[in-house]
Amino acid sequence: MQSPIKNISKIIRLLKKETKQFENPIATEIGEKTRSPFMVLVSCLLSLRTMDKVTGHVSRKLFEIAKTPQEINKLSLKKLQEIIRPVNFYITKSKRIKDISRILAKKYNGKVPCDFNELMKFKGIGRKTANIVMTYGFFKKDYIAVDIHLHRIPNRLGWMKTKNPHQTEEELKKIVPKKYWQDLNDIFVAHGQNICLPISPFCSKCYINKYCPKMGVARSR
Ligand code: SF4
Repeated sequence: MQSPIKNISKIIRLLKKETKQFENPIATEIGEKTRSPFMVLVSCLLSLRTMDKVTGHVSRKLFEIAKTPQEINKLSLKKLQEIIRPVNFYITKSKRIKDISRILAKKYNGKVPCDFNELMKFKGIGRKTANIVMTYGFFKKDYIAVDIHLHRIPNRLGWMKTKNPHQTEEELKKIVPKKYWQDLNDIFVAHGQNICLPISPFCSKCYINKYCPKMGVARSR
């Protein structure tokens, strides 16, 4: 096996190549298509504990009806719940989306603040969501959005031994060259959803298996 840390840039480039065959995570797709931080935020809130396919479908349906805080505010809670019903925890999520939209309209002139710390003040917005909005809503390069995949796989690869996503975020910022930060969430989510599954990963198909302690076998690619 080759040293994982030494080869970090190579591993990221290989993963980028591997994940071209898979669809982008939903927040990235929405960010690229709409350039709307609010839509990225809402799709991210909808996506928590929900499959990307369902989130994508529900997000598109919602945005056909309402895609700004002002438009969400015009919807009744009942109507919003009806639209987003297929996502898990739709009752809690509908309340969160309503609350956030109300505060954005009242205090932020209807705009999502381009400020990580301001975003973190909202109930229902945690580090992952705030980082996703900064990265895929505002296209900022100083953030890494760590979700379960980006927490699990670098630990599996032996890059670090961290206990939670926040620690992972800090470690990644130390060891990964900054030019890759923006892409990290995308490629690790796609890799984690399609190849490096939590149980029974498809190691034989994995582009980076020669750098993985789980395989421990050098293969030239
Ligand atoms: S070799 Fe297997 S465990 Fe290691 S990164 Fe690839 S899929 Fe994951």
